[in-house]
Amino acid sequence: DRIISSEADTQDLSFEKSLRPIQLHEYIGQDKIKDNLKVFIEAAKYREEALDHVLLYGPPGLGKTTLATIIANEMGVNIRTTAGPAIERPGDLAAILTALEPGDVLFIDEIHRLPRAIEEVLYPAMEDYCLDIVIGKGPSARSVRLDLPPFTLVGATTRAGSVSAPLRDRFGVLSRLEYYEVEQLKDIVERTATVLQIGIEELASWEIARRSRGTPRIANRLLRRVRDFAQVKGDGMITKELADNSLELLQVDRLGLDHIDHKLLLGMIHKFKGGPVGLETIAATIGEEAHTIEDVYEPYLLQIGFLQRTPRGRSVTHLVYDHLNIKPE
Ligand code: ATP
Repeated sequence: DRIISSEADTQDLSFEKSLRPIQLHEYIGQDKIKDNLKVFIEAAKYREEALDHVLLYGPPGLGKTTLATIIANEMGVNIRTTAGPAIERPGDLAAILTALEPGDVLFIDEIHRLPRAIEEVLYPAMEDYCLDIVIGKGPSARSVRLDLPPFTLVGATTRAGSVSAPLRDRFGVLSRLEYYEVEQLKDIVERTATVLQIGIEELASWEIARRSRGTPRIANRLLRRVRDFAQVKGDGMITKELADNSLELLQVDRLGLDHIDHKLLLGMIHKFKGGPVGLETIAATIGEEAHTIEDVYEPYLLQIGFLQRTPRGRSVTHLVYDHLNIKPE
């Protein structure tokens, strides 16, 4: 339940829907991806074909779902959304694929979690727009080929390395979403404030952006929390001072680190002289699972240069000592 978690919580889900940009030009940042998509979309529309299959990968909350929706909007087609773990049997996928209209986008979130048997159904669907279905059992079983309408598969994953090579190779466009710059997050905060009719000073937008860990979902969530303070403790307007004070109360520091990040970094400094120390050992020290540290805590700390990964384990860098105001031993 960390406020700076990049995973969506139930409150985010309803709130985020209303904030999704509809067109590519409203989507802030990720310029390289946008520029490429613009060309591919225009070309596909010109040829009156379905857009090539697109794989979007990168940490949670950077806007993969949003981009999938925008692709469908820009192509002028419907989007059908599902997730890897939700497709359990080949029949589930066949039902979804046969219900598509020509050109539609099928968005599969967490595509790395598709069962292998389902992936195999997907290969001919992606390559030749057809399904091979086995009817009957035993010696009388036979395979029937079913034609599908041309469609675009947009896959999203936080773990590109876990997508099998044969599946990855069938995507024509592979796009890696990067963490956002503070300036882009400031634009996202301002855009959200406009949509939700929240009054906010420019310096307050900067402050929220700076603490959002490069992630639009966190920026929007912090804005929502700070708005609560502005409505209860102020007159509704988010000033710089109000933003500073509320973010301090929410225990999100100037770089977006919370008490758990502090616990992890301080644990490494005090117990292991800053490292290198193995992931399992860090995990045991702060009472977390190693994979949670690897997937959830560590990426941002690596991104801002606070942690280094070495063959002998993780080390904190001098930036951590400066930030936490601690003298290195
Ligand atoms: P997950 O991996 O958890 O599914 P995601 O990468 O699909 O996350 P989204 O749900 O698309 O992330 O985005 C989270 C929120 O951030 C949404 O409310 C969306 O409107 C906003 N957002 C994301 N990217 C942008 C952007 N580039 N410009 C404006 N808003 C954005």
